[in-house]
Amino acid sequence: MKSNKNPYDNMLEQLDAAAKIADLPIEEYITLRYPEREFTVNFPVEMDDGSTQVFTGYRVQHNSIRGPYKGGVRFHPDVNMDEVRALAAWMTFKCAIVDIPFGGAKGGVTCDPSRLSQKELERITRAYTVGIAPLIGPEVDIPAPDVNTNAQVMGWMMDSYSTYRGQNVPSIVTGKPISIGGSLGRREATGKGVSLMVREIAKEKGIDLKEATVAIQGFGNVGSVAAETLYGMGCTIVAVSDISGALYCQNGLDIPSLLQHVDSHPKHLIEGYTQEGLECIDNHMLLTLKVDFLIPAALENQITEDVARETKARIIVEAANGPTTFEADNILEDRGITVVPDILANAGGVTASYFEWVQNLQYLTWDEEKLDANLEKKMVSSFQSVYNTAKEKNTSMRMGAYIVAISRLVEATRLRGKI
Ligand code: NAD
Repeated sequence: MKSNKNPYDNMLEQLDAAAKIADLPIEEYITLRYPEREFTVNFPVEMDDGSTQVFTGYRVQHNSIRGPYKGGVRFHPDVNMDEVRALAAWMTFKCAIVDIPFGGAKGGVTCDPSRLSQKELERITRAYTVGIAPLIGPEVDIPAPDVNTNAQVMGWMMDSYSTYRGQNVPSIVTGKPISIGGSLGRREATGKGVSLMVREIAKEKGIDLKEATVAIQGFGNVGSVAAETLYGMGCTIVAVSDISGALYCQNGLDIPSLLQHVDSHPKHLIEGYTQEGLECIDNHMLLTLKVDFLIPAALENQITEDVARETKARIIVEAANGPTTFEADNILEDRGITVVPDILANAGGVTASYFEWVQNLQYLTWDEEKLDANLEKKMVSSFQSVYNTAKEKNTSMRMGAYIVAISRLVEATRLRGKI
């Protein structure tokens, strides 16, 4: 069962633990414990049945010491300030790890997109964008997609913001449709980045990907692209799940035909998929399977203490943000299970977003090969800094990742004369 732990407390525990290992006094990094700004917007939306409903949205701007705020927008019934705050902080660390000139932010609207029509979704998106419009800007704060938001939602955000400004402003969001300033390769970048991290850690651990088994929780943007890329690299994907359930096949799922099924499913779910040797399992079973790689690619707090004690995965590559609780992390470390942390593993998304933003500001378009080559370069060099730091400090990759991030952030804070 998902833990109810406050994800911001989880983030603070991780940050303080890393600072301790790096011998960093609290005065040096105290600003990172607090978001710079937090906003709540309440806005009325006309529903299809003619009624009016008031929705609540958030935008948290955690830190801007290294550049404009950057972070996705989530639409989900569980969205709340604590979650958005934690996700914003993780963006700050992520951008520092991949060394791109952005700070961290996150946004969200508490709503259930599975119960909304496209028109209602569009009206919510537009009203939320107008609500946060005075706070964002192409050189101030640049939103992007996250859970339950996609290129279409970004298209509506870009249009609403452009109307507000009275001019076309494609660089206000990343992850837009290609035809209105989006970048080739952005949609796939997070999942591809996750796969590159699997490849790099496999090299370090002497695992042959052609012999490797993988289980993936979540089959949305990130999980499905990771499945497709890893399948292409020769891995056997034995299990995947989404909100409709989990599927297991000992000999490996036929990922291309599963992707086709999901594409044609009205709600883009894995339910109803059939293949020889397929078994339906539950979420807990998926998370505790004996596999080489477990990839949580859904929501936070999924790897609880129980899961950490029972999982038989060799390596966990965190595609989702905050999927492992602090306590579970300690158990995994004690059990010798390697975790490639979220702030490194899923940083391919924001890296490609940075490339999209650069293209928009320069009125240029890159081909997909150029984006992929630059993405790979950034992801591999970031992996190496994190892996080597963890080795040097004799600590976990999560602590290594935080140490890389904090040292860059503290350096920038010092150089700007703020400490
Ligand atoms: P998405 O909405 O496209 O997909 C989420 C998937 O998780 C869906 O398949 C959904 O059915 C599934 N899911 C939700 N709850 C579940 C549960 N309890 N058990 C099993 N499956 C469940 O979202 P996404 O963009 O793929 O994001 C997934 C994760 O990756 C999130 O944590 C997000 O913050 C993170 N992330 C996304 C990006 C990006 O570029 N989209 C970048 C970095 C990190």
